[in-house]
Amino acid sequence: MIGICLDRVSKKYGSQTVLHEVSLQVDRGEIYGLLGANGSGKSTLLRIAAGGLRATSGNISTAGSTGYVAQKFSLYDDLSVEENLAFWVRCHGFWGVRSRAHVEEVMARLDLVQFRKQRAGTLSHGWKQRLALAAALGHRPSILLLDEATSGIDPEARRQLWLILQECAQSGMAILLATHHMDEVERFQRIGYVREGKLTGVSPAEARALVGYGGGVACGEK
Ligand code: ADP
Repeated sequence: MIGICLDRVSKKYGSQTVLHEVSLQVDRGEIYGLLGANGSGKSTLLRIAAGGLRATSGNISTAGSTGYVAQKFSLYDDLSVEENLAFWVRCHGFWGVRSRAHVEEVMARLDLVQFRKQRAGTLSHGWKQRLALAAALGHRPSILLLDEATSGIDPEARRQLWLILQECAQSGMAILLATHHMDEVERFQRIGYVREGKLTGVSPAEARALVGYGGGVACGEK
């Protein structure tokens, strides 16, 4: 069953075309990985898929609501973990008892109950990323979009995040994720390589060859 489908999506900034007729489908239960150098167009593609940025041409269809985890932590440092989650759940139209139930559910699922009253700004980077993921999952989306959400966190926190993502996929979510970590390639059901705004489907071996994988090293780190 289709989760999200992009059909010949293009994006121009002035005279610069940053996405060229990108077509892509992610099924429910599938994890699709986006690879590519910095500036190739991955974030633009994810922002359009999330509905935050308008494509210049092409169509996007989704089988439900989307959750989006941006590259940069984008929650409120001064609000507690619980307050941040309540805010995002309410932004998606859930109030009162339902809002509280969603917040409790996602805090339990992502092991955030221990930090309930802690201000988001005081969390470690790994826990901030987990909070950002919780905020994206709080309204129970069918599609999850992640822009380098696993970058810059320690290996154990990354492993934990991946366990959550795999659970999400098993529960029927469609996941589209941009990464620089070549060791994550094996976790994807399908891989797309973005070069100068054009997307090509590749195998794990092709992906490694394209980015000159030297073994265990994240490619293209900023
Ligand atoms: P990636 O995520 O692969 O690093 P991006 O999608 O961020 O790539 O960027 C793709 C291209 O689009 C880059 O050349 C970047 O400079 C350009 N770009 C991104 N956002 C804007 C913007 N708001 N205005 C103009 N150009 C932009």
